Amino acid sequence: MHSEQHHSLDPADWDELRAQGHRMLDDIFDYMQNLRDKPVWQPAPQAVRDVFHAPLPRDPSDLAEVHQSFMQNILPYAIGNAHPGFMGWVQGGGTPVGMLAEMLAAGINANVGGRDQIPVEVERQITRWLSELFEFPDTASGIFVTGSSVANLIGVLVGRTRATGVAVRKTGVAQSGKRLIGYTSIAAHACIAQAFDLSGLGTEALRLIPVNAAGQMNLEALRASIASDRANGYSPFFVAGTAGTVDTGSIDDLTTIADIATQENLWFHVDGAYGALAMMAKDLAPRFAGIQRADSIALDFHKWAQVQYDAGFILVRDGGMHYDTFAAPAAYLARETRGMAAGSPWPTDLGPDLSRSFRALKTWFSIKTYGADGIGQVMSRSCALARYLKRRIDAEPQLELLAPVSLNIVCFRYRCDNPDRVNADIAIALQESGIVAPSTTIINGSLALRAALFNHRTDERDVDALIKATLEFGKTEVQKLSRDI
Ligand SMILES: *Cc1c(COP(=O)(O)O)cnc(C)c1O
Repeated sequence: MHSEQHHSLDPADWDELRAQGHRMLDDIFDYMQNLRDKPVWQPAPQAVRDVFHAPLPRDPSDLAEVHQSFMQNILPYAIGNAHPGFMGWVQGGGTPVGMLAEMLAAGINANVGGRDQIPVEVERQITRWLSELFEFPDTASGIFVTGSSVANLIGVLVGRTRATGVAVRKTGVAQSGKRLIGYTSIAAHACIAQAFDLSGLGTEALRLIPVNAAGQMNLEALRASIASDRANGYSPFFVAGTAGTVDTGSIDDLTTIADIATQENLWFHVDGAYGALAMMAKDLAPRFAGIQRADSIALDFHKWAQVQYDAGFILVRDGGMHYDTFAAPAAYLARETRGMAAGSPWPTDLGPDLSRSFRALKTWFSIKTYGADGIGQVMSRSCALARYLKRRIDAEPQLELLAPVSLNIVCFRYRCDNPDRVNADIAIALQESGIVAPSTTIINGSLALRAALFNHRTDERDVDALIKATLEFGKTEVQKLSRDI
């Protein structure tokens, strides 16, 4: 491919590359079109793992050969979240449209840290669309980040700036003279505590408030905790409500948390990683009432909204406060009113990253192609499917539900002696079968099989397969256990 005169990394023969590119596109379309025929997941054999221990290749290879290795050694051994039988954790399935848009973004290779370019404007349009969805003012700001782990961190940092003033960026939290305290529920995602760790506040500055039977933050306990902290000389500054908890999908009472935040002068952050975008679904939106009053919302397009990884987002009501938390002067990033350095503020002024990929494009394509209503309908359907799964569990004497079904997550187990051990084994047997792949969690001290129906491709067939396989594997695991004893 590389002649003496040809020194760039572009091909000497574009026609040949074009033909190879079309084959690669066809192969990946075939994969997506026929997902259902393959196992959800399969463990990689040693020979495949060995491929990834080969030393640094010094010499070039044909693209066709490298692609062949991808087809053989990588594609069959992903975790399987694109597959309709995937029900583990909180993961999106991705779409053909998102994939194509990602390819176009890679073609431009835009660096979306800033400067006067339309890719930045696309990202600003997503911010405006989200402001419309959540009824935020025009002065709200937002940026794409890897995921809600980082989005929640940014929410905590902007809340910290509000509580202490911008000087905290220079002098550090210890110098603020305040003992800052934040609040979230015990059902909140662990990345909220991590955000307190990373921001220098420390995880002990985050109170984990108990939840009620529906898995929502107990707001009497929240009030009591704030009062006792004030009495002890602490400075409450932040509360994070969760819009869709990872374990069970419960939604905190966001309206009352907003009221408490107003009364107590707290930054009201919502971890909407999983659920916030369900505001796109007409039937689900009322369940998130109060989210419109948040000071900041963390959310993930890559989960329920099915945009390709990664596409996390942080939306902040007070764009000025957001800017003041991150913007920093640097000679090489000087701004102009004309030329390529125009168009300030830039995304880099709103977060820790300078070089940034064009995550906005796959999101923009997805929202325009499927429509916010179309994406919302996917979410409504997965909640209906979760209710169908619940009905099937209720009808099977051998199965029992372990948590209320709030949105699209169903926690249940196979009834037997030693249920924690047996259900853990059932989960592994299901995953290794390649038929369906739920994960597990702990509900009130008991191990639960957890089916999270996020994938837009999942339908009744997959739910039926889950019930059938759980009953079968339950029976064999119980037999195995009684043989072992
Ligand atoms: C997934 C999730 C997170 C973490 O988000 P990432 O995108 O994985 O970084 C935080 N909170 C909740 C409720 C989640 O579901």
